Amino acid sequence: MELIKHYLKPYVRRMILGMSFKMAGTVMELLLPGLLAYILDTLIPARNRNGVFAYGGLMILCALLAWVGNVGANRAAASVARDSVRTLRHDLFGKITRLRAAEIDRFTPPSLISRMSTDTYYVYRMVGMVQRIGIRAPILLLGGIIITMTLDAALSGLLLALMPVMGLTVYLISRRGVPLFTQSQEHIDRLTRIVRENLTGSRIIRALCKTGDEKERFRRANEAAAQSEVRAASTMAVNGPVMSLILNLGLVLVVFVGARRVMAGHTEPGVIIAFLSYFTIILNAMLTITRILTMYSKALASAGRIQEVMEAGEEEENAGPEGIPGAPAVRFDHVSFAYNKESGQKDVSDLCFTLEKGQHLGILGPTGSGKSTLIRLLLRLYDADEGTVYVEGRDVRELSMETLRSGIGVVFQNDTVFRGTLGDNVTLGRAISMEEVERALRDAQAWTFVEEKGGVDGEVVSRGHNLSGGQQQRLMIARALCGGRKILILDDATSALDYRTEAALRSRLRQYTESTVIIIAQRISAVMHCDNILVMEDGEIRGQGTHSELMRDCALYREIAALQLGGEDGQ
Ligand code: ADP
Repeated sequence: MELIKHYLKPYVRRMILGMSFKMAGTVMELLLPGLLAYILDTLIPARNRNGVFAYGGLMILCALLAWVGNVGANRAAASVARDSVRTLRHDLFGKITRLRAAEIDRFTPPSLISRMSTDTYYVYRMVGMVQRIGIRAPILLLGGIIITMTLDAALSGLLLALMPVMGLTVYLISRRGVPLFTQSQEHIDRLTRIVRENLTGSRIIRALCKTGDEKERFRRANEAAAQSEVRAASTMAVNGPVMSLILNLGLVLVVFVGARRVMAGHTEPGVIIAFLSYFTIILNAMLTITRILTMYSKALASAGRIQEVMEAGEEEENAGPEGIPGAPAVRFDHVSFAYNKESGQKDVSDLCFTLEKGQHLGILGPTGSGKSTLIRLLLRLYDADEGTVYVEGRDVRELSMETLRSGIGVVFQNDTVFRGTLGDNVTLGRAISMEEVERALRDAQAWTFVEEKGGVDGEVVSRGHNLSGGQQQRLMIARALCGGRKILILDDATSALDYRTEAALRSRLRQYTESTVIIIAQRISAVMHCDNILVMEDGEIRGQGTHSELMRDCALYREIAALQLGGEDGQ
């Protein structure tokens, strides 16, 4: 609620104006049956023609004013809802871009997407609705009760007796229905996740002929989502008919009791007609209030989900010191880390190594051995649980994100290219000259295919589907090579390159004497020429040294070499 209040604050004046319009319009509406009763009971029996016309005209005027007031108010309400939720979405998006990687893991991307879309939509609907009918319904209810009291107190007693019955019904039904809505929202989250996984993995799914299975998986989730929506909606739908039943029973009672009172001379027929109108207005207002309450609780649940993201930890920005001249480019000092702290299992443990400036480090190991995790710790996407990561002699937690990351060029495993031109994909919005882009593309062994695709202005479609895996990798390597990065990291970024291209790239990288290079690979040929090689397994460093040292001392390395190099030492 605090969240919604915060975003509505700038629009208080517009809201007050809209609500005043709404109030004026509603009061006009309330006057109508009263005026009708006066015409029927006083003016017509007295045969006062002019009076009838005058009051008839007044009724038309009231109806017109009610219409104008309602339209004006609804417009104001829509603009407040639109503007406030636009700001909310903008801030939420900004927040998501700043979230710590661990927080993104915690929420999961599909849930963040539905919080951005569905949940903000519920808040939008609620903000609009409360302004439109949240004011109208209570005025109709209270005003109606007051007027009916003055019209005929005895009949009003009947009305007041029915209200608690209605209130209780609504309460009981909503208590069951609202949690069902929350559940159905979770089902939608699940559905979004399946669609997302499917789109991302569509090629492999087709390649493995798993389309049928996936359809079945989607069908089941869709079915569950639909059922849960039906359960929630049909529970809440009981409200309407029950209310109508009570309303109509009430009307019958009013007619019954009213007729007797008219016969006994206690009241006039016009009063009964007006009373019936007010009765309908009042009970409809109650029905509307229950609808608002349902929507309000749904929106409140959504606001809670948004608030959770807003309060999540983001990457802090400290004005950190510069690196120490002469210090090693990277140093890991007994670093351990677990993604899931509760599991008690470390994903990397006790990592220790030093990488001097200008050196090339190779990291070799099977999938899941912690190679990418090591890079994430270096980039401070996650903070180490134990030990310290140093970059240029400074603890990475001291350095500002800007200093740290602008000094590192990286190609992540499973990275993608973006829609745009080939050149855009290299510069990525940075002010980099065309000469440098071309040089980077040549060094990344990408120039030949870039020329074939029409030069740097050649088009790249969304997720790079018009480029081969190897072409995408080379484009991303060119991106990392740009902008004078002190540390270059290629995380499994050459896996789709043939041996010759990879060798050519390696020799080009050697010319980047100012840069320290980290190459992660599964192929020994990609790292065997490095100054230092780490061999990782199960999150631990099993050996480090040059190729020949490892061939001598590290059994795991020898094993990998035997498998990949056919038993030769590959020198
Ligand atoms: P590699 O790069 O060597 O293939 P990773 O560093 O990606 O290995 O993974 C090391 C371990 O950490 C694996 O057991 C993997 O399941 C786990 N892991 C990686 N990323 C995450 C994550 N975002 N959340 C939880 N566990 C993760």
